[in-house]
Amino acid sequence: IQELPTPYWFTDKKAAEKLIQPRGKFSHKGTFGHALLLAGSFGKMGAAVLSGRACLRSGVGLLTMHAPVCGYDIIQISSPEAMVSIDKNDRHISQFPDLEPYSAVGIGPGVGQEPVTIALLEELLDQVKVPLIIDADALNILSSNRSLLDKLPPNTILTPHPKEFQRLAGESGDEYERLELARDFAGKYQVIICLKGANTAVILPNGEVHFNSTGNPGMATGGTGDVLTGIITSLLAQKYKPAEAAILGVYQHGLAGDRAAEQKGQIALIASDVVENLGW
Ligand code: AMP
Ligand code: MG
Repeated sequence: IQELPTPYWFTDKKAAEKLIQPRGKFSHKGTFGHALLLAGSFGKMGAAVLSGRACLRSGVGLLTMHAPVCGYDIIQISSPEAMVSIDKNDRHISQFPDLEPYSAVGIGPGVGQEPVTIALLEELLDQVKVPLIIDADALNILSSNRSLLDKLPPNTILTPHPKEFQRLAGESGDEYERLELARDFAGKYQVIICLKGANTAVILPNGEVHFNSTGNPGMATGGTGDVLTGIITSLLAQKYKPAEAAILGVYQHGLAGDRAAEQKGQIALIASDVVENLGW
């Protein structure tokens, strides 16, 4: 029997802090990239707002949010720091702006699964040349349009919660089997998977598994996943390597959740508290 090196890692405070890039004295907003977030639909603009505000609180130089017409006032009023790119569609996103200015793209929070949005995702996968993170309904679109999986650019970050992961990769008997399924999936498609839950596991294309040490059950509430998408989009836009953006983003998200729980208690905690407790 040959002993294999363990693929398991643990992201503690020391490991996470080593990844944070300090700001140079002469840096300017151009230094920190321009993120594009494609998020929101009629009745789910809150998901866009949460991910946008988290993106801004994670150090990005500039943020543009692309949203359907119904989201225009909502984003401008709730997130004055963000620029807004408006879709031609009233309720669902169906297009994206010229990608040239952007250093990273995040898609998914609150987008729904309308045919126009499915077509948009396919076109995006064909065109995007910068780091990409896919979450929420955009993951569900992948699950029900499986030919899109072959178009995922290498090192794309996927952030499924357990149900989304099941749709994507199938049933698993227990936690260990799910982890092995995620390692197979990450290897097959050469993507990074953040398997969300208590001790979120970040699985790299090479099979490494990085377990997170922060977070608490107070975070089991609507919108906290959208916050994570914004954080990781921000780090990607700042040129963190995708694996580091995923590992560090998951850690800081949990840390903000722990600070929020100290202030409010786990039961009162809401996703906005996680955004407001981000600290780098
Ligand atoms: P979503 O379901 O997409 O809103 O994502 C939920 C977020 O909350 C993920 O980042 C999870 O890791 C986090 N979360 C949910 N439940 C727990 C828990 N019991 N302990 C720690 N974090 C959790
Ligand atoms: Mg979610």
